[in-house]
Amino acid sequence: MLYVQKYGGTSLADADRIRIAARRSAELARQGHGVVVVVSAQGDATDEMIEKAAQINKRRAIREMDAYLAAGEQMSAGLMAMAIGALGCPAVSLTGWQAGIHTDGNHGSARILQVDTTRIRRELGLGKIVVVAGFQGVDPEGDITTLGRGGSDTTAVALAAWLKADICQIFTDVDGVYDRDPRLFPDARRFRQIRYGTMMALVENGAQVLHDRSVELAREHGIRLEVLSAFTGEPGTIVGELESF
Ligand code: ASP
Ligand code: MG
Repeated sequence: MLYVQKYGGTSLADADRIRIAARRSAELARQGHGVVVVVSAQGDATDEMIEKAAQINKRRAIREMDAYLAAGEQMSAGLMAMAIGALGCPAVSLTGWQAGIHTDGNHGSARILQVDTTRIRRELGLGKIVVVAGFQGVDPEGDITTLGRGGSDTTAVALAAWLKADICQIFTDVDGVYDRDPRLFPDARRFRQIRYGTMMALVENGAQVLHDRSVELAREHGIRLEVLSAFTGEPGTIVGELESF
């Protein structure tokens, strides 16, 4: 099977958490599966970077913000590839543009137009786990773009779509999708499975568990998504159409 696994910032916040994720991916690769790992910037790195940029320039320098913010994910990708390598499993990190993620030129909220999977397929063919920096791509001018806050989910779904992966797993700090925010409502109920349309409605109502565009893209391409805890690895919520459950 070909897996795309995405880790959010909280799930990569420190070296121990990166190691937990690395072990999970390495284990799958050892079982003979292809594994592509998509990473977000660590912890609150993106928020901190935005604050720092505001001290430098109050105007919206969107092209430069993209160049700057994309570095957060690039750092995570390098660290994750090193963590996997330390387990004796070959891995390579790629930025969005190295991974062939082509977007429009809408800096700060670019849309993925196409993914050229040549490089990723070559690395997978060499038996490597491919670690891709989320949230970023390259526009027709050759400039770095970012996909909007939370956009690493969309990177993962786009890669799953263009690589025809069997599943796209979104590892996060909650153990699935709930009908209401479980941090505010203790009686919130967790879905075992949920349709794309219902998931989209939750996102439109402010649920932050998935980036809106990632759900649209998953529906367009029929990508089976699983939202699950990065800490327990227990089964979470499957997002898809009923016949695929
Ligand atoms: N690091 C970016 C953000 O904080 C993208 C992501 O986490 O998906 O919005
Ligand atoms: Mg997120």
